[in-house]
Amino acid sequence: MAVSTGIRRRAFVAAGIGLLAAPVILRQTAAMAASGDKTKMDATTQPQFNQFKLGSYRFTVFKDGASVLEKPYETFGTNQKPETVQALLAKNFLPTDRFVNSYAPALIDTGSDVILIDTGFGEGGRARGVGLLRDGLKAAGYAPDDITLVALTHLHGDHIGGLMEGGAPAFRNARYVVGQAEYDFWTSKVREGTPAEGGHKAVLANVVPFAEKTTFIGEGDKVAAGITAMLAPGHTPGHMVFHVESDGKRLVTTGDTANHYILSLQNPEWEVRFDMDKAEAAASRKKVFDMIATDRIAFLGYHMPFPAVGFVEPYEAGYRFVPKSYQFDL
Ligand SMILES: [Zn+2]
Repeated sequence: MAVSTGIRRRAFVAAGIGLLAAPVILRQTAAMAASGDKTKMDATTQPQFNQFKLGSYRFTVFKDGASVLEKPYETFGTNQKPETVQALLAKNFLPTDRFVNSYAPALIDTGSDVILIDTGFGEGGRARGVGLLRDGLKAAGYAPDDITLVALTHLHGDHIGGLMEGGAPAFRNARYVVGQAEYDFWTSKVREGTPAEGGHKAVLANVVPFAEKTTFIGEGDKVAAGITAMLAPGHTPGHMVFHVESDGKRLVTTGDTANHYILSLQNPEWEVRFDMDKAEAAASRKKVFDMIATDRIAFLGYHMPFPAVGFVEPYEAGYRFVPKSYQFDL
């Protein structure tokens, strides 16, 4: 799949941002050169983050970056006619030939723990303008060493790439929480010589080194105070979502349960290329988002439009996405 991260920037932005942004802009220039700046996506690679409170917990959502991908109908709704997918995109004021996929790792500061949910692409993504979590942390006033716990929804590269930095652990004071089923799948030698071999190698490089500092969890297990894991398999065999509750307020970090705010939420049964077990993924989408819709609670979806937080209500065959506005501010 062609992945390009073309970015157009206006020079005056650099003047106002100062030293913090300089490395970002240099990297971005490299990304523009590499991509030929063919796209017109006006996404910024400045560190972007969004903060809000859920009860007494402070959330900081980071934009690790975004990619422009071709032919949305070859990723979402692969069991539909392309025209059907394109019609739904057009109806929702979206282009029919390309789409934006963004990445949103998040920090939950509980007062006693600083918990990072997924880690972005890390250094391996920076040449193409992603892997910006590290800059985002700094901009938000956190150091990598502040993080006490890293919880992973699943072990795809856009979620585990940030675990290592320069060949060393990126979060030196952290412990880790990983789903047992997910870990067992990706670490198995059975993956060698299969389409999952690349993922297997990435897990050996980025996750296995932390095994002794990792708590392996399953359905219903506690991640930290107020945070409980639920299995939502299909995207990957051990994919998990995390239910967060503080002072009676609730939010579910849904990871990659649904990855397009229109196509996958309005049509949870539409098959998605990146879901390893398509039927199981559809069942998990319906289970998780039925709960979120019924209980009228918030969710944070890793690939939802930044800041990746919103609500759903039942709509036609699925759900209507309502992005957050000031619900957490009042
Ligand atoms: Zn993902």
